[in-house]
Amino acid sequence: MAGELRAAGVEGGAELGRRWMRGNAKIDHTYAEGQALSGLMRTVEKTFAAVCPGITQPLRVRAKTGKPPRGRDKSIADATRFPSFSLALPTTPPRRLPRWQRVKTQLSRRGKSLFPPSLVASPQNRSQSKPPSTADEESSDAEVDDTVTQAVSTSRNAAPDASNLPPIHDIPAIFSDLVSRVPEIKAVAEHLEGRKMRVATMCSGTESPLLALDLIRRSIVEHYGVNMEFDHVFSCEIEPFKQAYIERNFKPPLLFRDVCELGDSHATTAYGSLAPVPGDVDLLVAGTSCVDYSNLNNEKQDIDDNGESGRTFRGMMSWVKNHQPPLVILENVCSAPWDRVAQYFEKIGYSADYLRVDTKNFYIPHTRTRVYLLAVNQRHSSLPGKWKDWIGKLKRPASSTLDAFLLPSDDPRIHQAREKLVSESYNGVDRRTGRTDWGRCESRHQRGRLEEELGLKRPLTGWEEGGYCKMPDFAWNDWGVGQVERVWDLMDISLLRSAKKGVDPSYKTQVWNLSQNVDRAIGSNKVGICPCLTPSMIPYITNRGGPMVGLEALSMQGLPVDELLLTRETEDQLADLAGNAMSTTVVGACIMAALVVGRKLLKEGDDDATYESKNDVAMDVDDEDEDETMDVDRAPEKDVPVEERISGEDQLVEKPLDLASTAETRLTALLQKAQQSARLCECEGRKDITDRQLNRCVDCGSSSCVKCGGRPEHNFEAIDVNANTRLPPLAFAKELKATLPMSLSLANVSRELLDSLREETGVTIPEKRWGSWCEAVLRVAAHELRFVEPKRQEIWAATYQSPVAYLELQLNPQQPEWRLFARPEGDEPANSEIRKLLESPIGRFVCEDGLFSGRWDFALPYTTSIQITISGSEPVPSWEQKLGLQGKEFRDRMVNSRLEIDVDAKDLDHFDRDISGAYTLLDKCGTANSALHKKATDARDAHLPPLFLLLDPTRCGDPVDDSFVISISKGRYEYGETRPIICQLQSKWRQSDTDEEEHIRCQIPYKWMKASDVQLAPVAGHEAHYAVPGDQLDISVSMEACRSANALLVCRVPLLDQAGPEWPRNAWKEVDKVHERVTFKALAWLIERIRNVGGRFSDWQDAELPGAHVNCERCAPTAPNLLWTKVKKRVVAIEDTAQAGQYERDLKRRPAPFVTQLKLDKNGVGVVRIGVNVASLMHRAMSRLPTAGRKGKVSVSWRLTMDFLPAAKIKMPKFKLSSNRHDSLHAQPPSFKIPLRPEQLRSLTWMLAQESPNAPPFIEEEISEAIMEPLGWRAEGRAQRPVHIRGGVLADEVGYGKTAITLGLIDCTAKEVEKDFRKMQDMKGKIPVKATLVVVPPHLTRQWGSEVKKFAGKRFKVVELATATNINSLTIEEVQEADIVVVASNLFHSSVYLANLEALAAAGSLPLQDGRYFNARLGNVLDSLRNQVDRLRDDGANAVMDKILEGRKLGRYIIAALSYWLTPCVDEDESNFFVPTKRLKGKSYREVAEVAESGKKQPPKVEPKVKTKAKKSAVPDSIPANASVSPRTGLVMEVVIPVRKASAASSATSGTSEPEEDSDTRPKRRRVIRKVMSSDESAGSDEDKPRVKRGKKAAPAKRLTKKKAVDSEYEASSAEESGSDAGSLAESSDEDIPKKKAGKVEAKAKAKAKASSATQ
Ligand SMILES: [Zn+2]
Ligand SMILES: [Zn+2]
Ligand SMILES: [Zn+2]
Repeated sequence: MAGELRAAGVEGGAELGRRWMRGNAKIDHTYAEGQALSGLMRTVEKTFAAVCPGITQPLRVRAKTGKPPRGRDKSIADATRFPSFSLALPTTPPRRLPRWQRVKTQLSRRGKSLFPPSLVASPQNRSQSKPPSTADEESSDAEVDDTVTQAVSTSRNAAPDASNLPPIHDIPAIFSDLVSRVPEIKAVAEHLEGRKMRVATMCSGTESPLLALDLIRRSIVEHYGVNMEFDHVFSCEIEPFKQAYIERNFKPPLLFRDVCELGDSHATTAYGSLAPVPGDVDLLVAGTSCVDYSNLNNEKQDIDDNGESGRTFRGMMSWVKNHQPPLVILENVCSAPWDRVAQYFEKIGYSADYLRVDTKNFYIPHTRTRVYLLAVNQRHSSLPGKWKDWIGKLKRPASSTLDAFLLPSDDPRIHQAREKLVSESYNGVDRRTGRTDWGRCESRHQRGRLEEELGLKRPLTGWEEGGYCKMPDFAWNDWGVGQVERVWDLMDISLLRSAKKGVDPSYKTQVWNLSQNVDRAIGSNKVGICPCLTPSMIPYITNRGGPMVGLEALSMQGLPVDELLLTRETEDQLADLAGNAMSTTVVGACIMAALVVGRKLLKEGDDDATYESKNDVAMDVDDEDEDETMDVDRAPEKDVPVEERISGEDQLVEKPLDLASTAETRLTALLQKAQQSARLCECEGRKDITDRQLNRCVDCGSSSCVKCGGRPEHNFEAIDVNANTRLPPLAFAKELKATLPMSLSLANVSRELLDSLREETGVTIPEKRWGSWCEAVLRVAAHELRFVEPKRQEIWAATYQSPVAYLELQLNPQQPEWRLFARPEGDEPANSEIRKLLESPIGRFVCEDGLFSGRWDFALPYTTSIQITISGSEPVPSWEQKLGLQGKEFRDRMVNSRLEIDVDAKDLDHFDRDISGAYTLLDKCGTANSALHKKATDARDAHLPPLFLLLDPTRCGDPVDDSFVISISKGRYEYGETRPIICQLQSKWRQSDTDEEEHIRCQIPYKWMKASDVQLAPVAGHEAHYAVPGDQLDISVSMEACRSANALLVCRVPLLDQAGPEWPRNAWKEVDKVHERVTFKALAWLIERIRNVGGRFSDWQDAELPGAHVNCERCAPTAPNLLWTKVKKRVVAIEDTAQAGQYERDLKRRPAPFVTQLKLDKNGVGVVRIGVNVASLMHRAMSRLPTAGRKGKVSVSWRLTMDFLPAAKIKMPKFKLSSNRHDSLHAQPPSFKIPLRPEQLRSLTWMLAQESPNAPPFIEEEISEAIMEPLGWRAEGRAQRPVHIRGGVLADEVGYGKTAITLGLIDCTAKEVEKDFRKMQDMKGKIPVKATLVVVPPHLTRQWGSEVKKFAGKRFKVVELATATNINSLTIEEVQEADIVVVASNLFHSSVYLANLEALAAAGSLPLQDGRYFNARLGNVLDSLRNQVDRLRDDGANAVMDKILEGRKLGRYIIAALSYWLTPCVDEDESNFFVPTKRLKGKSYREVAEVAESGKKQPPKVEPKVKTKAKKSAVPDSIPANASVSPRTGLVMEVVIPVRKASAASSATSGTSEPEEDSDTRPKRRRVIRKVMSSDESAGSDEDKPRVKRGKKAAPAKRLTKKKAVDSEYEASSAEESGSDAGSLAESSDEDIPKKKAGKVEAKAKAKAKASSATQ
């Protein structure tokens, strides 16, 4: 695919830059695919011209082979294959070199290296670095052909930062650059002016097109002053988490679920409602599913197949056909059938063309090839072709390495992601790769190790069978242990492979694809460029020691992650989003090109006609309808204007704000404290102090905790933290911030001063270099440096910045100093000299007596080169040998462990510090290639930090150019930071075991020059003011209060001309959640001093709750109802989709707890105001308090913590059992025969107190909290309600006599209870009883009865309920008379009990399994049961029966609705209760029902029967309306309710009146009731008791497993039983019988009522 360009040799071109011309070497240059021929030519010419500017003529380019890239019927590969060329360069060397080339040449002659090593790498070394591949489609897939690899050229391997374009990695800046290159876009914006462009997206996953469009819009405003607004018409996404992402971040008016439906007039939205599919769209961008096209998918499916891709594609096409959008852009993998796609478009009157693009050619260092297609609504149009040309023109290779796109390792988002990754990897260890696959690939790995002579060691992970893994200390071991054997071994093999080339990958930025096979290439072919990210990939970053996190992956796709809300996605989901995303830069370029070429196809701004009407396509949606749906979401987002969203500024007190002041702290004291609070282990981060044992290496001085340390080994010794007390880091940070001024500047710097310094040194610095360096310094001096943050590391630091500079205070205890770095101007090319120069500091302030007393040194840009002598001795095994490499060059390799460095006395004064002396190899102490040496300290430098000699590799440069340096710092550096070095050894020097003296050149990169006039001083003259609350803050909780936040902090500062981009001009602007971090960092200098408004509000502040409170819908929108649906045989809860949509939107519109607003006045005064909406927090808290049955008054309060830090671990207070040792003895219970022991009497006292009406209430509490992380503020709103619950837990030991004490309690309170009971009014849904309900484990049921007798004789009447059978024989009367009801706890779980409950409650059936659905249904059933109780009392048994019959229908309805399939589940025990014999069936049953209904003079006796038998599936149609099946037992149940002989009228009146009449004395037993029993009982007997007994003994239920059988059985029994049932009806009309039954039912009702109250 890649074209090949061959630049033939230049004779005698000696010093023309090694890359291009080395003698007559042949140089190969391979181009990336997809580059247009003309572009390729131009690039060749340009490059050549740059190298040889003097030569214009003799350049001949000749095409050798290859086919032109066209032809739709050719494969993609063909279409994008380019011809190769040979390029003949002139043989005359050029006369003049470009500036950088000359400098380079001079330096090279003197053996120095000034340029990024990648620039000056020599070709023969290139072959050692990563083999590039020609296959760039999904580079993870790339099979590398070795022969190709060898032939591939050198220049491909240059990292993006060797580019001669300015580096660029900020996504908005990228778009600004992109848009600035397309002035034609202005015409498009003007063309559309007057209306919004309408854009629709389908399956775009991350909605990259919208992000790109918005970035483009912003840039157009910036560059051309026109606003090209657009409307997002609809989105379509099928995956729920992506829907959530889209909804959260883009709020599309319509979010459809399935592309396949879009061809219709209406489609289902993500919320489940049906909405008209809108049209009149200018631009559609779609990335239809690529699941089926992906190479990884073996059975490729076609668009004509019914695979996912085919269906979605056709859905998209029918939408296009129906709505005729002028422009359509499609994106997909290269292997999709693009020619056919284009044909489809032609069929519907469009023209289409496509091309292949690679993300790395569009600003972002990410190899990702995709095909984009443009279809325009015009036949045989030339536009798609022009569009392709445009995209060619818009190409712009990445000029920043992938490091620039990664988050800094101390970014909190990295920590969060890491935690998520760790927990996800534990939960799903097998998910991605599978533990099990190790067995399959083990032999492959071993073969690889053998063939490549890698040895058997595991130097990176140290893994062992059984799941042990220990990565080096810098790495994410917590993530590492979650990986699988295959991954671990692959990591080790990869390290060993790298080590063979002399490279320690842990010190280079490489991305390894760990989901790849061991024999495939797992890295990128290009340095500094990320391999293609796929959803399933594990992208391991070698110098992080951990994976790229999801946010970074998104950032590698050009998503502005700072602007996105990515809070709820898992890391896996983020990886999925990123892996399937369109790169914004690519889709952005495609959109811009399409708009430019297709401008005339777009309607003008004042054109009202729809595209449909223009194209004569009927849109079969009536307008009215459409308008309605569009309006749904157009409700005003926030009804409160911005300036009113913060109120109460008048409550604040204004004070002056001093930004320049510093607290007087002595430097030594500050350093002391810095040391005490510094980080001793990586795991402590910025804020923590570990309580694990800490160790420090005796040799190198590094420290770590026992958990993190150990790799590298070091020479550890425990740190005695008791002897060296540690200070809390936050306390020190606070002190440091008080000590430092918030704004600094460099004073007394002038060009004259700088020039005089140069003269003083006497060295010659090239004028050009000197000039640009001086400019940088003067630029720095003109801007004030503003405080950013204190940084806790192994040593503390504090940072300041200005738009042009960066200042860091290093609190090194032995050498505290400030270092000042200038920022190169943005348009400097990545490889420019000044950029390289400015990686070094431009100056430093060495603290002597205080932070601001000392001396200023400039680092003049002059590199001194000096020859030093190194002699080595005492060889020890080399790094490679210790890694176990088996190649013969490694097996026995030794290196000297002692080095003696000699510097000529005359050269000594060039050094900042004397480097000569003896160096010892500390090969247990890590650093790159385990090559750390430490200089033995002597008297001269004992007071200074120790010196180290170590290999200091560049992150992305050629490893061969990495050199050893001498520095006081051996640590790792973040991207963008540079190690302060004293000198750098020639890059060719490597460790060896030579015993000869080596003469090595060594460079001192800059020349320190003292400038005593220069000062680093606080900036005075900011007349800033701030206002904070006084001692009091009145906060209202009224329903209107939450409309605006209470002002807490208002700050005014004259910024004049130094206002940053964060300040909106002349209008209030609110900082939203996503921009919070960035904004507050920029404001830190202003707010840091005042953000601690004080601790006045850190205690709960009561707020007055006005009147009757209703739920605030603004702050706490009503949650959607739960519905139940069946998924794979399980019932699951789903939200009512329509309500859920509304709910989500309402949630989004809730008032923010914290509101931050910024404004820059006309007169240059910046105003920040921050408010907190405590009322909203209290409203939220109130909405969550439970309300059912609560009567207590709600009270609300709030508090505000100004120095809040989320705790790393939540420390729960220890739970303590209270003792009753000090309670007083209660008198013996009145009826007790056996006295209680004293300790029991004490418990009795306590229990009585708990039962007392005055017992202290339990406080129910809800807190709603909000955290403003950048400020460390936390606001909480609290709602409380007292709930009186009389009771407690008596937790005495076994055998202590808890039963006796409880009986004592019953005894002592019996009189009171009796009294209350007599006074008891009728209770709704319940029948009052005086008994104490005792729920016991089943085996203790009987014991309770005997205990009662033992202690209280016959004083108490006890009812024991061990099984459901006991309930069947129980009367309501018995329960009402009882003093104690003992019930076995398992009764409530019993199927029989629940079946009876279902039947009686008549509210449908209960589900079989416990869980949310069961609880929800149980709630309904219990509610209904209460109604039944009332009905029984008020309307009599007939009404109850009617209800039961009705309930059955309900049950069947529910069952049918759920299509609920049941498994037969009648166990032996249950069958004892439910005996299948004869049942009341069909006609006879109906008759009974009719009788009951009509309420004749001779009402039938109520005789409920539960009959059980058939599997539920048998039920539906064959069963009469009045039969139902218990899902629990799978039995068909029938109930007959005979009513006593009394007339219907009297029965009814007695039902209602009796309890009322008797209520003042004692409720009388109602006799009429019924019983739930099996029908065979009723058939067999007319007498109550015998019936019950028979029931118990009856035969087990028949279990029917087949539907057919059930049906027939059912019919048979129904026929058989009809007669006898009728008989039983007549028989049962006996007075005695119903009595009993009534009792039973009521008892049950009672028990249930209790159960229900218990469940609440
Ligand atoms: Zn640690
Ligand atoms: Zn060490
Ligand atoms: Zn509210």
